[in-house]
Amino acid sequence: MSATYTHRFDTPVYKASSTIHTGLFIGGEWISPVITEVACGTKADVDKAVVAAKKAYKTSWGSKVPGSVRGQLIKKLADLIEKYSNELAALESLNVGKVFGVSKTADLGLTLGTFRYYAGWADKIQGSTIEGSEKKIGYVLREPYGVCGQIIPWNFPLAMLSWKVAPALATGNVIVLKPSEITPLTALRFADLVVEAGFPPGVVNIVNGYGHTVGQAIAEHPDIAKVAFTGSTITGRKIMKAAAESNLKAVTLELGGKSPVVVFDDADLEQAVKWASQGIYTNMGQACAAGSRILVQEGIYDKFLSQFTVSAKALGAATGDPFSDGIQHGPQVSQAQFDRVMSYIDSGKKEGAQVHIGGGRASDKGYFIQPTIFTGVTMDMRIAKEEIFGPVVVILKFKTEEEVVELANDTSYGLAAYVFSENISKALRVANELEAGTVSVNSTIPVDVAMPFGGCKQSGIGREMGQYAIDMYTQPKSVHVNLSLRL
Ligand code: NAD
Repeated sequence: MSATYTHRFDTPVYKASSTIHTGLFIGGEWISPVITEVACGTKADVDKAVVAAKKAYKTSWGSKVPGSVRGQLIKKLADLIEKYSNELAALESLNVGKVFGVSKTADLGLTLGTFRYYAGWADKIQGSTIEGSEKKIGYVLREPYGVCGQIIPWNFPLAMLSWKVAPALATGNVIVLKPSEITPLTALRFADLVVEAGFPPGVVNIVNGYGHTVGQAIAEHPDIAKVAFTGSTITGRKIMKAAAESNLKAVTLELGGKSPVVVFDDADLEQAVKWASQGIYTNMGQACAAGSRILVQEGIYDKFLSQFTVSAKALGAATGDPFSDGIQHGPQVSQAQFDRVMSYIDSGKKEGAQVHIGGGRASDKGYFIQPTIFTGVTMDMRIAKEEIFGPVVVILKFKTEEEVVELANDTSYGLAAYVFSENISKALRVANELEAGTVSVNSTIPVDVAMPFGGCKQSGIGREMGQYAIDMYTQPKSVHVNLSLRL
């Protein structure tokens, strides 16, 4: 038992005579939790954080600080993220189980790029003037909301934090952020960097804790003016309800998906296979924009399936410890997630689909699941309709362009969609028809800090990234100026 997991509880009426254990009691002895323990906040902690944020907004942020100064601080924060990128990447791999090389290049690359991009925006927040007459002018300011609540998931903890925190800071908002209860480590290290960069106290507040307590308290807090959420559609609904029933705060939601990958006969086969493989298996399938339904035209179907199988098998052979060289496929984030994915695999089998490859545990230790392909799938099966959030893909065959548009849009989600064809007119025609917030032609997992990202249908409300995030973290104020109108 590590000495870290003990505590002295002194109260006004009782002084503890000894420290008590706060670790786990298993098999008759005290043992440390798997990685570490972190504080678990409550509603009262959210209240405290909101008070601190409001004070900072009034005295040392928002309109009190010019955009150029905010930009310099965000740039300094980005420099610190770069300086500590190895440490942050290692923590992210511990946090989630993701492959270290991927944490370093993809997660840290995206996080750094996002802070740098919005550092540049901070002194470019602009309203507009509206043409009036010689008697009147009108102008529109873009003002921050004030206190923004931000609730993020476990799959890309630091990158999702950057998508929320960077534009909110650039536009002069103050923040109360809740990381996922299962991946708080990088957010906590990030808090140290906020201090090191020199942000005034209270501008960024991070409160760990569970969704139904801390998350709910953020969503229903009367002094939080906006809540931004990334996570599941079920939780998104709860947040919107809490926001509506409390103070009608502004809401943006980035939710789940069941994104289609459409591969036409005239696609560059080798490239389509590589992108589609990355589209589903990246981050062990735990990506909101995962291309989890691959729709392949009949003329290329057999070749596609056989090459995709080779690629998935190679990935499966590179499964193991995320910190070891040559490893490309790690574990699912938790026992709960492992169980959820395995239960979807069971449901696919029970509903009559065929496991083409994979379908099992990849190691007797840890939450490893083999890259899995289902064939013989119909659109009424749960594995074709619901978000699995694991390394499991369904591959279906289609005949015509018209049919595939219908199949691709046959979902309650609308986050992303992918089209592969060397015929650019057809690719763009289909891109126009697909009901998704983000469409990629001849690539997958479309993340570009300068382009808006988000979903339509039940995949979300609003957009993150690019100039759209600046709009989402500011509200317009119209000012009418009477020059010479007389009553
Ligand atoms: P989740 O909805 O369970 O949790 C997300 C966050 O919400 C966590 O911090 C959690 O503690 C909190 N939360 C849970 N219940 C809450 C409540 N009642 N009130 C307020 N907060 C609450 O999702 P998850 O399991 O962490 O993440 C996986 C899901 O997130 C997937 O469905 C995935 O598609 C989605 N996701 C979407 C995007 C996107 O950009 N669209 C990105 C990443 C993940």
